[in-house]
Amino acid sequence: MTHGFDLDARLQARADDDLRRRLEVAESVGDRTRLADDPKGDAPEFGDESVVFAANDYLGLTDDDRLQRAAELGARTVGTGAGASRLVTGDTVAHRALERDLADCKGTERALVFSSGYAANVGIVDALSPDVVFSDELNHASIIDGCRLGAGETVVYDHCDADDLRAKMEERADDGAAAADGDTADGRWLVVTDSVFSMDGDVAPLSALCDAAEEHGAWLMVDEAHATGLFGERGGGVVQREGLSDRVDVQMGTLSKALASQGGYVAGDEALVEYLLNAARSFVFSTGLAPPAAASAREALRIARETDQSDRLWSNVETLRNGLEAMGYEVLGETHILPVLVGDRADALELDERLRDRAVVAPAIRPPTVPEGTSRIRVAPTATHTDQELQRCLDAFEAAGEEVGLL
Ligand code: PMP
Repeated sequence: MTHGFDLDARLQARADDDLRRRLEVAESVGDRTRLADDPKGDAPEFGDESVVFAANDYLGLTDDDRLQRAAELGARTVGTGAGASRLVTGDTVAHRALERDLADCKGTERALVFSSGYAANVGIVDALSPDVVFSDELNHASIIDGCRLGAGETVVYDHCDADDLRAKMEERADDGAAAADGDTADGRWLVVTDSVFSMDGDVAPLSALCDAAEEHGAWLMVDEAHATGLFGERGGGVVQREGLSDRVDVQMGTLSKALASQGGYVAGDEALVEYLLNAARSFVFSTGLAPPAAASAREALRIARETDQSDRLWSNVETLRNGLEAMGYEVLGETHILPVLVGDRADALELDERLRDRAVVAPAIRPPTVPEGTSRIRVAPTATHTDQELQRCLDAFEAAGEEVGLL
């Protein structure tokens, strides 16, 4: 029988374009060891122990005893799974406790957790059903997919460029689609941006975006996936650090990065949350977040707020940034994500491989993820990398950079 799916050919086409991805199995996230490449899924052989600078476990909490105990207690007292959608019988004390703490941390009236950050973004944008979404060109795929589902029209503005946003809003207003009436039938405009961008390590100009949105009666939604637990007085994110909580209508984020768990959240006023729990399809028609994930995320939030865990991250970030720059590398961004600019895509791939030869895992990021000529290595330190591990990373970058001819 012939059929049109021909998946082998599709995979080969990806391989030809250098876009074929493979899974790599790790024994555990926390000790950051890596196993040998295992494309077929056979029982893997242990490879060299590598130090990984690629995880989003920024506070290094995935193997923290306190989180593990919280997850265990959640499983024992509430259950290993929610068992149903929250709206059926899956709503539990573990969810409510986490949501109370998230709202308190963010300084909002209420919060709601989803089964992932991806589900949160898709569900929120779809449910708000904006007439026009103005979206930063580097926004995360889950925002883009939410726009595909829910937005009447999506207008992409230049990365982190509030002037371009304003110009595009003015253009649309001249076309007669103004949102100045706010929430009128044909006037729902939504501006949406990541706060910290994961491939560039830079920060959106939130205050200027608030100004532009307010001028046009639009709502502003900010994705704090890479900032939750790290920025702001209570770990509430960049919105909190910049004192903009009252001006940002929709704040979302994930529990899966610095909070070392799984799940996504939205935080905002009572009406927003009450509406979303009724209308966001990824909330309504999906099983509630697993209680152990809710319980461990809550403990991580407490640690992020009450301990100096993030100070250690920032000190590791500074050591790596200074060390890499001293060697002559250009390090982009201004956050805990350190994109080391290489330029040529083949050079970036080669540097990635030479780093792996030295048991340092830091991935090459190439087009189409980033523009041609800006391929890079993304280095993501955590709070629990030791001085020796940081030194191993720097030594590897020095030796590998010389081999590839970059230094
Ligand atoms: N938003 C951003 C900016 C992200 O980087 C990610 C994850 N890579 C998500 C949303 C999705 O979050 P999750 O992994 O919890 O689905």
